[in-house]
Amino acid sequence: MMSTSPSSPSGLAALEQRLAQDLAWLDLPARRWVPPGTVNGEELLDVAIIGGGMAGLAAAAALANLGVRARIYDRAAEGFEGPWATTARMDTLRSPKQLTGPALGFPALTFRAWFEAQFGMTAWNELDKIPRLQWMEYLRWYRAVLKIDVRNEHCVKDIIPHPDHVELKMQASSGALPVYARRVVLATGRAGLGGASVPGFIQGIPRERWAHSSDAMDYSTLRGLRVGVVGAGASAMDSAGTALENGAASVDLLIRRGDIPRVNKGKGAGNPGFVQGYVDLPDEWKWRIRHYINMQQVPPPRASLLRVSQHANARFHLGAPVLRVQEEGRQLRVETPHGIFQLDFLVLATGFAIDSHSRPEYATIAPRLRVWGDRYRPAEGGDDPELRGSPDLGPSFEFQEKIPGALPGLSRVHCFCYPATLSHGTVSGDIPAISDGAARLSRGIASLLYGENIREHYAELLAFDEPEVFGDEWTPAG
Ligand SMILES: Cc1cc2nc3c(=O)[nH]c(=O)nc-3n(C[C@H](O)[C@H](O)[C@H](O)COP(=O)(O)OP(=O)(O)OC[C@H]3O[C@@H](n4cnc5c(N)ncnc54)[C@H](O)[C@@H]3O)c2cc1C
Repeated sequence: MMSTSPSSPSGLAALEQRLAQDLAWLDLPARRWVPPGTVNGEELLDVAIIGGGMAGLAAAAALANLGVRARIYDRAAEGFEGPWATTARMDTLRSPKQLTGPALGFPALTFRAWFEAQFGMTAWNELDKIPRLQWMEYLRWYRAVLKIDVRNEHCVKDIIPHPDHVELKMQASSGALPVYARRVVLATGRAGLGGASVPGFIQGIPRERWAHSSDAMDYSTLRGLRVGVVGAGASAMDSAGTALENGAASVDLLIRRGDIPRVNKGKGAGNPGFVQGYVDLPDEWKWRIRHYINMQQVPPPRASLLRVSQHANARFHLGAPVLRVQEEGRQLRVETPHGIFQLDFLVLATGFAIDSHSRPEYATIAPRLRVWGDRYRPAEGGDDPELRGSPDLGPSFEFQEKIPGALPGLSRVHCFCYPATLSHGTVSGDIPAISDGAARLSRGIASLLYGENIREHYAELLAFDEPEVFGDEWTPAG
């Protein structure tokens, strides 16, 4: 028999066999146990997940292992969920290659296993960071190999909680349809309860002269143009690098701070104690940690900076906050303390805002959900608009009502996206701890589903009559 060296790829089919074997050995996924139901003649799902990116997929897989059936709805086309193959512009992931991401503790589900199965261990050792589109390929495989039920091109337009279920108003290519589920998970991503953060100085400037870094946009349209990029984070560097590679005449980076952040404090905080213990910290500590990380800001990866600075026509202006933007003919006059810039196009790499009121699909729930600002006042000097607007979530990521009783069923909606960070820590979006978040979410939901259907489970217990012993195993002593 020919032996394979550890560096030879064994192929995806072999990996898939191993995964199937691992799951069989652990007797997973568990059998379904949530009572079936209907609403208005339609199927009542155990769980509906909005968003089929990494978080939605991990949540669906973790729920399936516990015998809870989840169906995902995503407005994106199949294979184009999340930012990776659409609006992200970095060459490689920002996070290190060895993170196990959505693998849920199964070695055969890791990116590394998937990569080595195809390209071998030598290639793995030589790999620096994971190429962005290859990560998307891996997520497509993850979805397929776990047979996750994802309905693409389904956009959720409204979320209507009821005391014993949640109704989703859905728009699909075939038309509008209602979906009913016992519980709903929002796995809607980095801007999951809001959208792009757009500074006031751009108000009134026509849309053809500016874009946010998270906009879908063809950067080849910037060829020959003088481009300004506002910001100094990873997305600023990605936008600047892409503009330069597409032939922009120049890129001026307009950076508010006097220096570019050097240290990623969030990375420094990440250890298993933080992942498991943050959620149980007192409010004061949660706020203090998150506010500090927000104030320090996340530096761009070194490689992303070098991607920009290697171009002679890239200019870094530190201490240059934008004060005013005016349209002058076909160009923009951008005023900063560093001087005035005449530009053709501005890219705002100004991050994301948490504001559930800004999203039409949250119109029903947004006014009723409790945010931290409704009940918590930070110590002097600790005010932070992002934290104030963050949802105040329960132990299973569930929303809580601002006024108890005002929207019964609101707690059937679970917020498993970036805005959960203040309540739960960094377990609901980024790659490092997404499996820990999915485990917490799925256990919480399984427990809630069991408790709220206890009458049916008890009736099943009473009706259960599968004998272990038939009475013919012994003869009573005369
Ligand atoms: C440019 C960029 C680069 C990043 N790089 C990294 C990185 O290197 N490492 C890292 O750890 N993190 C990175 N992140 C953070 C990143 O968002 C997450 O790691 C990852 O995308 C989170 O997955 P998710 O499932 O939470 O969200 P997403 O992948 O964004 O998925 C959310 C999904 O929800 C869907 N959706 C939203 N609203 C609706 C609706 N109303 N109806 C139907 N569907 C809806 C969207 O179509 C989308 O597919 C990056 C983020 C960005 C924006």
